Amino acid sequence: MAVARDLVVSPADSPLRVAIVGAGPAGVYAAEALAEQDAVPVAVDIIDRLPTPFGLVRYGIAPDHLKMRGLRATLQRTLDHPRVRFFGNVEVGVDLPLALLRAHVDAVIYTYGAADAGRLGIDGEELPGSLTALDLVSWYCGHPDADRATVEEALSHARSVVVIGVGNVALDVARVLARAPEELQLTEMPQHVLDALADAPVEQVTVIGRRGPALASFTTQELRELGRLQSAVVLVDPHDLEPLGAAEEQAAAESAVARNLAALRGWVEHEPSPGAVRLSLRFRWRPVRLLGPDRVRALELERTAAGADGRAVDTGELEVLPADLVVRSVGYRGTSLPGLPVDERTQTVTHTAGRVLRDGRPSTGEYVAGWIKRGPSGVVGTNKHDAKETVASLLEDVAAGALAPCRQPEDLLTVLTRQGLHPVLLENWGAIDAAEEALGATHGRDRTTLHDRNTLLAAARLAAANREDG
Ligand code: NAP
Repeated sequence: MAVARDLVVSPADSPLRVAIVGAGPAGVYAAEALAEQDAVPVAVDIIDRLPTPFGLVRYGIAPDHLKMRGLRATLQRTLDHPRVRFFGNVEVGVDLPLALLRAHVDAVIYTYGAADAGRLGIDGEELPGSLTALDLVSWYCGHPDADRATVEEALSHARSVVVIGVGNVALDVARVLARAPEELQLTEMPQHVLDALADAPVEQVTVIGRRGPALASFTTQELRELGRLQSAVVLVDPHDLEPLGAAEEQAAAESAVARNLAALRGWVEHEPSPGAVRLSLRFRWRPVRLLGPDRVRALELERTAAGADGRAVDTGELEVLPADLVVRSVGYRGTSLPGLPVDERTQTVTHTAGRVLRDGRPSTGEYVAGWIKRGPSGVVGTNKHDAKETVASLLEDVAAGALAPCRQPEDLLTVLTRQGLHPVLLENWGAIDAAEEALGATHGRDRTTLHDRNTLLAAARLAAANREDG
């Protein structure tokens, strides 16, 4: 929306003040795109409700994917950029009303992701022993909001585990549960996580896809990795592998899918081996209900056939599969922030090229990037292109004089302090980082994640105390 010329932001006088809500990869990539251009001087504040930055790089990428987690070093470089500040432990919409934030900056970019788990909507979903992948992943990554008691109780029963869904998150969960304790020793997982995983009585992990393998959403690298586990044997039924119907046949002709099918075919001769976890991949079964009565004992499944459009079609053939733990890995959902609605249907913020739409029209100074813009898809790097598109729109709007100047150009740190908030600043995050490395060293590892919010904040405060002493 264009504004009167005399109200236009004038970058020559003062830097463009941009707040980014969410310090995950999308937020940090947006900050990078802003900080590394020279057309418009900028001052970027990245705000996160957690005391720590990096979002899913810290709390989503599987801890045994050490190389991918190393991406944090790249993201850290952006946090260290002189045009960028980090304010952790501040929840926009709760601690800091959105209207107040918007009054103090020229533009806001929402990058807070899709932090809710998808639901199956079937009976028994809430029984003890039924977890979402989000519950489990948050727990094993040491997220401060993880429900330790529920997850650890469920794991203590988990002899036979069923994972519903055949995306990369489902494979992460299956792999972590099937790994030998020694394989996880060098990860950043908190010690209580390593102990609970080592004590879990897992003998069988079954991953269930409702459609044929040609339409599974996992990727080849992640699939092949299952075949390299130290003490698990992957089992596949050859009958599941033949493409059925036009959609599956068409998909199977794509090279990435052909590689997946080849990997699966390589396992059809496998036999269970004594002492090894049986890791079964089963396709064309949909979950009907979880059976109790007091806790999950089994899962009722229905055989599906391939519909012409690729959708799973019911056949009426039922099977009851014993299960002590069911992990529902059926994607994530975006939620609204107080003051920022999401579209009910897409669970994303409505936008055009990253410009937030309110009542169908671009809202001045509001932008969106990452999962809350496009939905929970793609790899971490996808967020880089996505954030660049959004930042390009923002800079175009600046050039076109379409941004209103901020109404109260007061430093955000002053505003946060006046709100009674205690943001975790970059140096405080540095102290948390150092505390995690020091804890890791006591276990012979590079780092151990501090999982408790109070412990994180205590480590952060240490930096503040040292600063005052010095
Ligand atoms: P996803 O790839 O969308 O997979 C969701 C799975 O849930 C699909 O198999 C889907 O089947 C199934 N599903 C959905 N509703 C269902 C229902 N009602 N009943 C049965 N099955 C159902 O999501 P994700 O695994 O959560 O991953 C999210 C994103 O993160 C993806 O882009 C993923 O690649 C990425 N990621 C990447 C890595 C990596 O690169 N290593 C690791 C983790 C995550 P249908 O296809 O039939 O709907």
